[in-house]
Amino acid sequence: MNKKIKIKCLWCNKQFDFKKTINVNYANPIFEDEPLFVCSPEHSEKTIEFLEKARNYYNSTYLSLLIALFIYPFLAFVFKKYFLIITMFMSFDFGIGLLIFPFTTPHLIKKVGILKSILIAKTIAIIVILIGFSLLKKII
Ligand SMILES: [Zn+2]
Repeated sequence: MNKKIKIKCLWCNKQFDFKKTINVNYANPIFEDEPLFVCSPEHSEKTIEFLEKARNYYNSTYLSLLIALFIYPFLAFVFKKYFLIITMFMSFDFGIGLLIFPFTTPHLIKKVGILKSILIAKTIAIIVILIGFSLLKKII
């Protein structure tokens, strides 16, 4: 019986032979101390680059998102007259932030791999920015 253990690459999400595993050891706030496996030195490099960015910005990105989710609806509620303008600012703020810091949740990153999770985050970012522009068109 040929029992080959397959494992998923954290970067590209492709399955590969466990024997070819490269273990990425890099302390980060997304996966904390979990062992991280990738399929090639190239993907190891890209994963570390991503984790380095996460180490520097993941927590602050999450915090600013939480603050934004509180402040913008609050402002929109208090200044009902400026609802569109406030929503537009929220769209640009959130969209541009997500474009620069394309972080999603640890659960999603594990499920689809880092590469796809970045693409998903950037796609959402562009959609949100476009919503901002459509609001801008309504305002002016
Ligand atoms: Zn890979």
